[in-house]
Amino acid sequence: MNRILIAEDEARIGSFIVKGLEPHGFHAEVVRDGASAVEYAESGRFDLLVLDIGLPRLDGFSVLRRLRTDRIEIPVIILTARDAVEDTVAGLSGGADDYMRKPFAIEELIARIRLRLRSEGGAEPTVLRVGELSLDVRTRRATRGDAEVELTAREFLLLETFMRHPDQVLTRQQLLSQVWGFDFDPGSNVVDVYVGYLRTKLGGDDIETIRGVGYRLNPERM
Ligand code: CA
Repeated sequence: MNRILIAEDEARIGSFIVKGLEPHGFHAEVVRDGASAVEYAESGRFDLLVLDIGLPRLDGFSVLRRLRTDRIEIPVIILTARDAVEDTVAGLSGGADDYMRKPFAIEELIARIRLRLRSEGGAEPTVLRVGELSLDVRTRRATRGDAEVELTAREFLLLETFMRHPDQVLTRQQLLSQVWGFDFDPGSNVVDVYVGYLRTKLGGDDIETIRGVGYRLNPERM
């Protein structure tokens, strides 16, 4: 099992990440300041660090510098505020492997974590299959039978979420937080709109509407 260290001082975001990662087979632990992040990352118990920039005691850049100076080669994914593009560039040149802008969809963070871990040599299946649908999460290709289905990034994430939970009813709220991120307006009908797009592109009735609850990918119907 891959062990992920999360350095994030906002409790809400830390627990959002932990809750998102654990169902996907990761073990995640949160530290809430930069000094602890260094200490934990140097313990050798973790495979990857998700590092917020704005941290008390030692900010994310200082954490990263310290780790690289100490020759700790743990892969690092930086979390940055929406508009802090210069921060991001500084982070990447300071030895980070990747970055995510807040707010982010948990599925996207998971995809990036997997990518980093894989380039470190961890092996994991990259193709999800349900009925005649298959989804390669590494190359981002979706196919139905032999035919390729062109999806936007958001449609891909939505379909990936369904395919990771086949035959399970997913509520609009679950889909919103998995695909659009934690701070999306819960009253939005964006889920329904995107399910509509997916149905059109997939050309089947694989995605069932469960009235008053949400949606389910039904392998029986394929
Ligand atoms: Ca912060």
